[in-house]
Amino acid sequence: DKGLEKTKENFFSKLGKAVVGKSTVDEEVLDELEEILITSDVGVETTIKIIERIEARVAKDKYLNASELNKILREEIAGLLSENNTKDLDSFELPKVDGPYVLLVVGVNGVGKTTTIGKLAAQLKGLGKNVVLGAADTFRAAAVDQLIMWGERVGVPVISKGMNTDPASVAFDAAKYGVDHNADVVIIDTAGRLHTKVNLMSELTKIKKVIQRFIPDAPHDVLLVLDGSTGQNAFIQAQEFTKATDVTALAITKLDGTAKGGVVIGISDQFKIPVKYIGVGEKVEDLQVFNKVEFVDSFFK
Ligand code: GDP
Repeated sequence: DKGLEKTKENFFSKLGKAVVGKSTVDEEVLDELEEILITSDVGVETTIKIIERIEARVAKDKYLNASELNKILREEIAGLLSENNTKDLDSFELPKVDGPYVLLVVGVNGVGKTTTIGKLAAQLKGLGKNVVLGAADTFRAAAVDQLIMWGERVGVPVISKGMNTDPASVAFDAAKYGVDHNADVVIIDTAGRLHTKVNLMSELTKIKKVIQRFIPDAPHDVLLVLDGSTGQNAFIQAQEFTKATDVTALAITKLDGTAKGGVVIGISDQFKIPVKYIGVGEKVEDLQVFNKVEFVDSFFK
């Protein structure tokens, strides 16, 4: 549960307190739960859903002790989170594909995109995978430099053509390198400019097309990185990116710096996209494979 202490203290323990000592779930308890969920960035829609589900379940069974109520809450919240399809939740094992597994990483600047790629590369390398990084976020020199730094630190090749080069051309080179060198994983960093939605869409489409010249079923996943401490902004970004491309997985970062980890529940529910990774700090091991039951349960213990 490392890194999630703030959320635990401020969110789930409040939830626990709302039901402690109550034998029935009355309006007061439900109002309290609703307020806690909303102020924890679960989002209004998802909050209403949770409250309605709890109401429906407790009506049948009205004498409940606190631990039974906690159990219902845990089950209903976990039920809203999409299943993480990562096979082995204790490792960073990726789906088996023919040739390199290609991960396209999207997200706006500052959310922790490069750091997430670096951590992921380090962990995969640690598992014996051959990893290649593609620096296709070519609009910021810092983004390219930072990825190169991660590559050096982790000991994985970074395909880069410098700033202002065509991102698709970098993606092309990275995919080709991956195939030529029998890589297990190719991770491509892309630019996250949201103010030009049409550009974003056509850029991502173009990147996908060139990768497919080498690896027809790639990208195997499009990972959207969101900063978990930005609340409503993270929802807006999820909306914009899912409109621009098929996002298949989420990484929610900086959960160590926020008491509002409820954002994980709301976003996963609203967009029906599994949360694959969570970031709970700046170190390599602070990127964790997300397990919804563990995530929810840990806060009630
Ligand atoms: P990018 O612009 O999206 O590539 O963002 P960066 O990867 O450069 O990250 C921005 C800042 O957030 C850096 O200082 C990272 O160290 C920090 N960061 C990224 N992920 C996490 C996280 O899970 N927890 C914390 N505390 N900081 C993080």
